[in-house]
Amino acid sequence: METRIVGRFAPSPSGRMHLGNAFSALLAWLSVRSAGGEMVLRLEDLDPQRCKRDYADQIEADYQWLGLDWDRGGSMGGLEYYQSNRSTIYAEYLERLRQNGLIYPCFCTRNQLHAASAPHGTDGTVIYAGTCRNLTEAEQAERARTRTPALRIRVPAATVSVTDTVMDAYSEALDQSCGDMILRRSDGVYAYQLAVVVDDALMGVNQVVRGSDLLSSTPRQIWLQRQWGFPQPQYCHVPLLYGADGHRLSKRQRDMDLGTLRSAGKHPEEIVGQLAAWAGLIDRPELVSARELVPEFKWKKIGQRPVLVK
Ligand code: GLU
Repeated sequence: METRIVGRFAPSPSGRMHLGNAFSALLAWLSVRSAGGEMVLRLEDLDPQRCKRDYADQIEADYQWLGLDWDRGGSMGGLEYYQSNRSTIYAEYLERLRQNGLIYPCFCTRNQLHAASAPHGTDGTVIYAGTCRNLTEAEQAERARTRTPALRIRVPAATVSVTDTVMDAYSEALDQSCGDMILRRSDGVYAYQLAVVVDDALMGVNQVVRGSDLLSSTPRQIWLQRQWGFPQPQYCHVPLLYGADGHRLSKRQRDMDLGTLRSAGKHPEEIVGQLAAWAGLIDRPELVSARELVPEFKWKKIGQRPVLVK
């Protein structure tokens, strides 16, 4: 018997949804619905300075306005689908790593981290120079008197590969791409890499569809999954959308956000049709509902090239 697909939409509620988010959300939804699977909505609101409940509610409303739905999570799923409420769970999984000797406290200040002439990883991550990697217990206790540490994980010089459904083969040498990652910041906020791996596993997610900016995070996440013995989901990284200025669409560009498009009188079927044409699911933009696209959907039709939004 085939395993039922469990996909997810996992937005960070730090702004209104833009066309790039809508593009990956639509493809994630089509993949799940065309396979008779289950869709989970999880709000990645770990960072209290950037994330707001209002944005989470607006993202849900925009998602529904596009004609997309979900089976579990979001505001109807209870608080456990908001990462800000899951710290106790993250603490437990971090503790398991600590018991395996993988975690160490890092007392470096932001300035020290920038001053250390560490190389940059594949996605611009500053590779940690390892200053606090081998402190003795006495040194740790001494530093802990004046500073609350961040917690890092010892990452080996291992290469991890993934076969992505859209982008094909991708691999990274962890020591050169990310180095010892922070799993909990000094202010107690858990890192995205930890939370996403724990949540996908505990929520039964077995298919991850998201923008290709996160392809470089995937080997790190696979390595973390292995530390906890979690199964590896299927990964489908979809192309990013670029504006006429050559920059990737982001929440800072208000003209491409769903709030602006909706108040300009756009119809959801116009937007879905445009997204579907960019994805290669239909030949040219036309009015179409998400539901009508379900029989059209096949991963084979989705290209690898970035989409230029004029
Ligand atoms: N929360 C992330 C974002 O909105 C997505 C994380 C993921 O899909 O793994 O960019």
